[in-house]
Amino acid sequence: MSAFVGEVTEAELLARIFPRLPAPDGVLLGPGDDAAILAAPDGRTVLSIDTLVEDHDFRLLRPNGHRTTGYDVGWKCAAQNLSDINAMGGRATSLVVSLTLPPSTPVAWVEELADGLTAAIRELGATGCGVVGGDLGAGAQLVVTAAVTGSLEGREPVLRSGAQPGDIIAVTGTPGRAAAGLALLEDGRPLEDFGGAREELAAAQLRPRPPLALGPAAAVAGASAMLDVSDGLIRDAGRIAAASGVTLDLDPEALRPYAVPLEETAALLGLDAMEWVLGGGEDHGLLATFPRRALLPAGFTAVGSVVPGEPLVTLASQAAALRGWDHFAH
Ligand SMILES: [Mg+2]
Repeated sequence: MSAFVGEVTEAELLARIFPRLPAPDGVLLGPGDDAAILAAPDGRTVLSIDTLVEDHDFRLLRPNGHRTTGYDVGWKCAAQNLSDINAMGGRATSLVVSLTLPPSTPVAWVEELADGLTAAIRELGATGCGVVGGDLGAGAQLVVTAAVTGSLEGREPVLRSGAQPGDIIAVTGTPGRAAAGLALLEDGRPLEDFGGAREELAAAQLRPRPPLALGPAAAVAGASAMLDVSDGLIRDAGRIAAASGVTLDLDPEALRPYAVPLEETAALLGLDAMEWVLGGGEDHGLLATFPRRALLPAGFTAVGSVVPGEPLVTLASQAAALRGWDHFAH
């Protein structure tokens, strides 16, 4: 068996990848033709695309010696795309994946990537979603792009622009964990130096777990605005503030519980856990606003309120120094 991508034909590589990928429900025509055909019972299609570039969005070898596996990259690629459909209140229906591969890429790495895509789709609960096609090409750098389709299932989408003064701000998941994981991976010391639990923090960065049931649940509960936290709470809250023309006032005391479990790691690195919570991205939890009369779906925690004013983010009514969080920007 050939070990490297440069030694196999496209057809051979596809034959190695496709059996590893899940088929979607509602597919009228799957891989094998020039394009796939999907049913769209809702009459509308939610569509998004996301790219991971080697040395920009991931590194094959981290400073701490961690080797990024194809599985990690496949998982993250699927998770980010599925998260964007979740953030609209939709359910993902299909992915198409484009791979640009240096000829020296091991075929096994590409097979692992397929396994990571499949595992994320299944384990995150993207029921019915599958991979319907894609593209393979050669290039100097590894690039993994996926486009995702989703269904609103008859609901209205939840946009960034609907937050109203008086609304409650709520989050899901564990903001700051992926940033803590990134700090560990970027540190020169091996993960083992930080003890066993640190593997979980690294996993939060390498294999994020967007809460795919909660986007639709938020839409049903009447969320007025929503997005997934990809660039940090403050930066992403700023996007809702800008789109809605309101001030989002985050309550640091409500956010502090997310920092507490990260404090020991932060101290070892000489960093600030609260900064991870407020500025760290890539957790792919949801940040949403709800009318005060709405019942927050289980899994959401209230962390602030929407107030009239300039489109910006404040912390307990203190203007957040947005500059300070920009070092997390890609
Ligand atoms: Mg997003």
